[in-house]
Amino acid sequence: MDTKKETHQFKTEVQQLLKIIINSLYSNKEIFFRELISNASDAIDKLRFKTQLEPELLGDDTEFKIKLTYDGIKQTIEISDNGIGMTHDEVMENIGTIAKSGTSAFLEAFEQLNQDNTLTPELIGQFGVGFYSAFIVAEKVTLITKSVGSEKAVKWESYGDGSYTIEDTSKDSRGTTVVLELKKAEKDEQDFTDEWTIRNIVKKHSDFVSYPIVMNVEKDEPIPENEQIKDKEGKTIGAATRKVIREETLNSMKAIWAKDKKDVSEEEYTEFYKHISYDWNPPLTQLHMKFEGTTEYSALLYLPSKAPLDLFSHERGHGVKLYSKRVFIMDNCKDLVPEYFRFIKGVVDAPDLNLNISREILQQDRLVMNIRMNLVKKIFELLTAMEKDKYEEFYKEFGSVLKEGIHTDAAKRDKLADLIRYKTTKSEGELVSLKEYVDNMKPDQKDIYYITGDNLSTLINSPHIEKLKEQDYEILLMTEPIDEWVVMSLTEYDGKTLKSAEKGDLDIDKVDEKKNNDYTPLMGYIKSTLQDKIKEVKPSMRLKNSVACLTGEADDMSAYMEKILKASGKEAPQAKRVLELNVDHPAIDKIKAIFEKDKNDPVLKDYCHLLLDMALISEGGKVENPSRFSKMVGDLMARAIDG
Ligand code: ADP
Repeated sequence: MDTKKETHQFKTEVQQLLKIIINSLYSNKEIFFRELISNASDAIDKLRFKTQLEPELLGDDTEFKIKLTYDGIKQTIEISDNGIGMTHDEVMENIGTIAKSGTSAFLEAFEQLNQDNTLTPELIGQFGVGFYSAFIVAEKVTLITKSVGSEKAVKWESYGDGSYTIEDTSKDSRGTTVVLELKKAEKDEQDFTDEWTIRNIVKKHSDFVSYPIVMNVEKDEPIPENEQIKDKEGKTIGAATRKVIREETLNSMKAIWAKDKKDVSEEEYTEFYKHISYDWNPPLTQLHMKFEGTTEYSALLYLPSKAPLDLFSHERGHGVKLYSKRVFIMDNCKDLVPEYFRFIKGVVDAPDLNLNISREILQQDRLVMNIRMNLVKKIFELLTAMEKDKYEEFYKEFGSVLKEGIHTDAAKRDKLADLIRYKTTKSEGELVSLKEYVDNMKPDQKDIYYITGDNLSTLINSPHIEKLKEQDYEILLMTEPIDEWVVMSLTEYDGKTLKSAEKGDLDIDKVDEKKNNDYTPLMGYIKSTLQDKIKEVKPSMRLKNSVACLTGEADDMSAYMEKILKASGKEAPQAKRVLELNVDHPAIDKIKAIFEKDKNDPVLKDYCHLLLDMALISEGGKVENPSRFSKMVGDLMARAIDG
């Protein structure tokens, strides 16, 4: 048996995280209790689930509980559970490293915020500090754990100073004990070894934990009649009560999802949310439902108020936990809500669920499918009925996730389309729904216009929409990469076509045939000069003040999409675009005059390139040869200023 004591260094992220936790949570120290109790409760959940199939694993230790012990003289606190415990390898893996995805993103975000001095504990809360929160109050943390079915126990110790030790040890019973040797409390600080302080903290943060959180407390108990000291007449002369130590359960253990809505306070909802999520911000709102009928189940779902940092990480799990008759079955049950609702956190308790169900077949389970259908319906109802300001608060955090659904779930596309919002050329920074857009359409307007790109002000000022704006049409400004996928799938809303302002024929103005014909030779010349770069040159129906812009055919990829693909390292097909020129612009007239005078004037070639570069720049693109561009503009300026 290996009993050697080994010393290990914490992974760098852990060290960074520890520093952050200790420095920033000094005003909220008590949360370490909640975090450690949550871990204990999770450990019992895991064991309880495992023993559904292997009940013999429990042995005699069948009463699940979490025990708190305090010692005011030694200044120590212990949190013990008889849960699943950990093996040596599991301790090495779980404590001392951080398995969670998004850690580096978190640390980066943190560093940035820290520079501005705007750090909040909520930020850490988004990440969930878990076990390490012990170091907020403890000088030294000792964890002793024995995994279910294992003979050996493991002892882990650390002063939170960058290293920890790990060695084999012995332990009577299964489970984990965490011992905190407290730092010296400062004056006026909470005393975590005080019975009433502990009672209050448990009540406040962990009341609904579904296992008893017990503590030995001193009590006054009546002395039984026959043990009382009496005088000759039989009258009691000694004390009627005596001090005894009794184990008391501190939490009510009420699974709040199983309660009636009217019996749950807002504070309880919020505390429960904090317990099940990694989020310390209060939720935006919650949905508490009981379904009765052929299948019965209850659900308590929350909309968070802030998006977690790893919302778009692929490893990220879903936020819904599945229970059956209050027995925990699994975390991150992604079969209960679709991917585009993955921000939802909560609990579903389905008593009729087959407990032996595996993750793989869950998806095909009729009951699960039925629950999912109902939840989706209710979530849509909740989002649709939300009051405008609150909805926008939600939308700013999670709108882009909803947009994913438009692309992935054809059956719910229309419902999701009702939920998306955009800024427009007329909305002055406000968000507008597609329905509002349609209601505001001009009587002669046939289509819904949009333009995509990564920068709002570039879009508002884009040459592509000059004519549309002049005719007082509203244009949706789409500034997120996901919008490219939205418009790929959402081709229509309320019977109106969604039309890109930079692609195809806008059909808003008549072409003046005669004028066009006048320009045909010049267009032909420009096309042949730029033929490697563009596929067509034509008079524009979109431009008003600008000289040139680049457009695509209706089915071509937009410039923004090309940019997105390139940025993500994907091969973007090099589609040539159409150079549109504003034949009402004096510059084009002047070029035409030079062209008609002398087709071989060398300045003409320069102007061709300049027109293309201008078109690129106005849509936020990059010119191929910036120094040539700058030189040409310099020459032009010199001439203009001279003249
Ligand atoms: P989190 O609980 O958020 O995953 P923690 O840092 O609190 O992060 O814990 C890391 C891991 O250590 C847990 O996921 C769990 O596997 C293990 N762990 C922590 N506490 C216990 C415990 N009391 N019993 C068993 N395993 C535990």
